[in-house]
Amino acid sequence: MRVFTASLATETDTFSPMVTGEADFRTSFYAGPGAFGDEPRLFAGPLIAARKRGRAANWEVIEGTCTFAQPAGTVTRAAYELFRDEILDQLRSAMPVDMVVLGLHGAMVADGYDDCEGDLLARVRAIVGRDVPVGAELDPHCHLTETMTKSADALICFKESPHTDYLERGEELVDIIADCARKKIKPATSVYDCRMIQFMPTVDEPMRSFVDRVKALEGKDGVLSISIVHGYTLGDVADLGVKIVVITDDAKEKGDRLAERLGRELYALKDALFPESARMDDALDEAERLLAEPGKGPVVIADRADNAGGGAPSDSTYFMDRVIERGIEGVAVGPVWDPIAVRQCLAAGEGGVFALRFAGKMGPTSGRPIDARVRVIRCVRGATQTFAGARDELGDAASIELLDHKGLAVVLISTRTQALGLDLFSGLGIDPAGKRIVIVKSFTHFNAAFRPIARAVLYTGGPGPLTLNVRDVPYTKIARPLWPLVADPFAA
Ligand SMILES: [Zn+2]
Repeated sequence: MRVFTASLATETDTFSPMVTGEADFRTSFYAGPGAFGDEPRLFAGPLIAARKRGRAANWEVIEGTCTFAQPAGTVTRAAYELFRDEILDQLRSAMPVDMVVLGLHGAMVADGYDDCEGDLLARVRAIVGRDVPVGAELDPHCHLTETMTKSADALICFKESPHTDYLERGEELVDIIADCARKKIKPATSVYDCRMIQFMPTVDEPMRSFVDRVKALEGKDGVLSISIVHGYTLGDVADLGVKIVVITDDAKEKGDRLAERLGRELYALKDALFPESARMDDALDEAERLLAEPGKGPVVIADRADNAGGGAPSDSTYFMDRVIERGIEGVAVGPVWDPIAVRQCLAAGEGGVFALRFAGKMGPTSGRPIDARVRVIRCVRGATQTFAGARDELGDAASIELLDHKGLAVVLISTRTQALGLDLFSGLGIDPAGKRIVIVKSFTHFNAAFRPIARAVLYTGGPGPLTLNVRDVPYTKIARPLWPLVADPFAA
């Protein structure tokens, strides 16, 4: 069997001032045809799974381009068309193939393309024809469109958020598409639109139990796979929103009924699902209260409004301002994206003491820069952190302590990314478990590594570029009523 695989992914915050161009893909991650190494990567699940299954079954796996950019603003038309056409040309050269499996995100928006994945999948379909099965693994923070579902035989989202199951879901996709190619099954896709905007980390209830219930329904009674589309709140596109996708073995009506049942069940949980977010000072008060009680480990506070994984710059200063103003001891913050500050720290060297201006530079939502006398704790060129077995680049990085502000420790990075692994801090000479409070710039992915060492995890929602108050987001393109923008989206 000849199998073609490739990856093209990013999540687009259409309200972000940061442009996503060709260089952002090349610096985040780019591997040309056949150049993907042995290290797992979040959006390469299908490639990794195709290799694994291919070795066992003696397939010929043709690996196309694999690239993804750290989430930011709208992708340039030139960058999207460049990588899209590169992959399509590779597919044309690989023809004839027996199946195609792609690693996509599902919320990529480019100039002139609100639905990049629909565009790409439709073009793939046009090349391979009706009879060659096409599948894609998606991030649940995607905008599922009819063009996507019509163009693919199977679309499977990561179930977990933090996305720790990308390898398992990649294998699930490859197995379904391979069974389809061998004519053992005939996948039928059912979609139910839950008509709501949500944030649904799967580590917290009631989402955890819902995901577990969904998983228990898979692999029997003709149900091949169930995906929960969370949607991405800062993509202003017609199809934004929560959806349930059920793939059955040629049982569309049954799939429709199951998708609707699960979708209604999820909609009924809407108020409980919507995230509680404390204000910064309330979270710091709560942290002090928890630290006064018996317990072990730091209080971990998520600065969700400045999550690079959602397209934010990761250089806002609001939280650091509050810590400085309140004179709180034993605090570490990271990651703060400031390549210029990193360069100065590298020049000063480890142990160097100097006056540094850092952070608060990318825009009005970043706050004001901080001026402080700092000591460089550690410098690491080409630093990395770890997430679910995958490596994530921090670029050149430095850690500093603010000498006049109770030793507030900050991790500065030059490749923009969110807090994922404990090595974000430990790799830069800061023991997160030894701190009183650790403030991470991340929405939920940090939970996988930080929750086990935390006395408690607290969520805060701003200020910052990524608002959780979706009622204030100036959407212009959403094509149907959605909760909580309207009280009852099913009324009409
Ligand atoms: Zn995601």
